[in-house]
Amino acid sequence: MKLARPLPPGSTIGILGGGQLARMLALAAARMGIDCHIYAPEVDSPAFSVSAHHTVASYTDFCALAEFAANVDAITYEFENVPGETAEFLGRRSVLAPSASVLKIAQDRLVEKTFISSLGIEVALFAAVDDERSLEKALTLIGRPSILKTRRLGYDGKGQTRIDATTGVALAWRDIGKTPAILEGFVPFETEVSIIAARGWDGALVSYDVTQNEHENHVLRRSTVPARISAAMAEEASRIAAKIIAALGYVGVIGIEMFALGNRLLVNELAPRVHNSGHWTMDGCTVSQFEQHVRAVCGWPLGSTERHSDATMTNLLGDEADEWERLSGEAGTAVHLYGKHLARPGRKMGHINRVTPRQA
Ligand code: AMP
Repeated sequence: MKLARPLPPGSTIGILGGGQLARMLALAAARMGIDCHIYAPEVDSPAFSVSAHHTVASYTDFCALAEFAANVDAITYEFENVPGETAEFLGRRSVLAPSASVLKIAQDRLVEKTFISSLGIEVALFAAVDDERSLEKALTLIGRPSILKTRRLGYDGKGQTRIDATTGVALAWRDIGKTPAILEGFVPFETEVSIIAARGWDGALVSYDVTQNEHENHVLRRSTVPARISAAMAEEASRIAAKIIAALGYVGVIGIEMFALGNRLLVNELAPRVHNSGHWTMDGCTVSQFEQHVRAVCGWPLGSTERHSDATMTNLLGDEADEWERLSGEAGTAVHLYGKHLARPGRKMGHINRVTPRQA
């Protein structure tokens, strides 16, 4: 269902998923006078404690989903692996943004790369892999080094393996669990960047400044704005974002990850939701990516994406969040903690935004 008219303050939006992204969406919504109803299977979801309502149930409990849909004015999600039939079910009962058809594309790396390249946007060389034989064939086309990734359910480097000059085909195939996959040529990128963009129900389109990203052990460690890329490349990144979200008929915030190589930008991945590399907008812009997403879903005018400050966002992983007292005492540092109780190594427990006056 599409939104007929803007949702006024006092409305309730439903969010599938109860992690830190849902929590920060709920905090932004609260500031706008909008309540959130979180739907998540985990009893201790970080978003529950800052939201008006929550439901603990599985994503395939269609009775609970029907009740959830009946109690909210629009539905969105914080993660792209919502089962397809769940999104379609909710989309028939309520306003759902982004739509179930967007999820279908973003959930499958092969469909996603095919879609992006059909728009004339550059991606890494890629080929479908369904078994050892097709992996061998794909390797003759794409060469080594290359990266074998599962088509579905991969994130933060999970479900992928690098194939170097000597890596055995059988080993690589076993490494990713012998499931439908995609082989990608290795991109010797200079930097990884991303762009956060948004589109409203009326087709209005905005994007934030390009962010430069550094990963450690496949997990985002740091995002910096401004990115060290030329103005022409930054413009190209926002043209790419505009092309993708217009073609998707997208509503909401999207994160688009890219590799920068010389003066080329290759799109790696779409995240049909608010994105970790957009957390700097909470303290670097008047309207954060979280407020922007709520605005878009609720049919409000999109907000300014202007960056008023330079910023570096650093994720606090595992016990690094124990440093909250020292970090809070740093001038120009905003500390954001997610209220998670168990600090497993590598788990995203919070982030900090170090903000300085805008230089350029
Ligand atoms: P992904 O799960 O596709 O986001 O990949 C996780 C990380 O692996 C990326 O942020 C890159 O650092 C690296 N990576 C993924 N695909 C490629 C590629 N085709 N070439 C080079 N590095 C890649």
